[in-house]
Amino acid sequence: MIDANRLEILTDSAKYDVSCSSSGSKRQNVKGGLGNASIGGICHSFTPDGRCISLLKILMSNKCAYDCQYCVNRRSNDVPRASATPDEICELTAAFYKRNYIEGLFLSSAVEYSPDRTMERLLETVIKLRKQYCFNGYIHLKGIPGADPLLIERAGMYADRMSFNIELPSESSLKLLAPQKNKAAIVKPMRQLSSGILREKYPKRSRFLPAGQTTQMIVGASRETDGQILRLSESLYDAFSLKRVYFSSYVPVNFKNAFLPVQSAGLLREHRLYQADWLLRFYGFSAAEIVGENGNLAEEYDPKCAWAIRHMEQFPVEVNAAPVETLVRVPGIGIKSAYRIREARRYTRLTFEDLKKMRVVMKRARHFITAGGKFYGEENFGRMKNLLAMHEQSENAEQLSFLKENEIVQSVITGQL
Ligand code: SF4
Repeated sequence: MIDANRLEILTDSAKYDVSCSSSGSKRQNVKGGLGNASIGGICHSFTPDGRCISLLKILMSNKCAYDCQYCVNRRSNDVPRASATPDEICELTAAFYKRNYIEGLFLSSAVEYSPDRTMERLLETVIKLRKQYCFNGYIHLKGIPGADPLLIERAGMYADRMSFNIELPSESSLKLLAPQKNKAAIVKPMRQLSSGILREKYPKRSRFLPAGQTTQMIVGASRETDGQILRLSESLYDAFSLKRVYFSSYVPVNFKNAFLPVQSAGLLREHRLYQADWLLRFYGFSAAEIVGENGNLAEEYDPKCAWAIRHMEQFPVEVNAAPVETLVRVPGIGIKSAYRIREARRYTRLTFEDLKKMRVVMKRARHFITAGGKFYGEENFGRMKNLLAMHEQSENAEQLSFLKENEIVQSVITGQL
């Protein structure tokens, strides 16, 4: 069994990883087996920005052969080092699962010796967990770029989800801060996992990576703008059908490198990127609509509100007539509310009171809509912007203080490729 000292090192090294929320995986327990994975229940503790907090997050090893400047586990950093064996990880996962501490495993590793050797150990662990320990719970496995494609394919047969982290948003930043990595090597396994060949080989989704793949980007360690980050995210979603792109605000862990900022990018920037990502995935926005390539997201308004303010020529829209695609672009009207509106107006002509009952956030929406021809928003553009900014400020203060209280805020990047 893994001793307490190594356990502390390996879980501490992994605890800030943000790319681990699970979804979309369903596997029933079998007789004599242990646990099961379900679409809705495996990770039911999420922070407001979508981080999952109910997996055992652990590194196989934090002894890294690489020297990524932004990482606490880099070779040149003087920190306690430890590794665990596949059996130790399996025993720990099974024991925690039985005690109801966790509902799944998030397993990552630093590059110990080489990508192949590390990937082999990770693969050995998940095979043992599934076959020897009969573990049917959720497994999110970090992949190691540069490892043999056969190892990666085999891992996909046992894990629910895999992720290869894109890390920094450009090749030049990788060269500067993570010289052993390059974009082609990171993207290659993502392409492999999303390829038609594998989809044909494993036609049953439940047999191969049922929860798909994700990636993570560090924000603020290098100079890329939010516009560049969102364009890259958009192209990753398009090219590899990723389930999520996670953003991790850089937190300084290396004060000796002159190219690294001395301050974190901050929670607000990360929060705005997640909001923009939501617009990309569910609201029909393109990255170009959300922010210019060389621009950053506004701090004072959420990205949808900022877009609406820039396009006042498209507002107000009449809630009794506008199509759903237009309604979802109104600040304060979410996807569910838009569909509720469409359904309800088949039977009645909607008023502002009806909209409140449908959970439309009227403090925002009233400036951009009419209901039955009536407008209750602020007509003075400057005053309207101030009101929206004030509303946003109070909401942000609440959300960010919740995150701080829960100590899930430091996104130090550890143990990932
Ligand atoms: S990011 Fe990964 S590869 Fe780079 S130093 Fe950290 S653990 Fe090693």
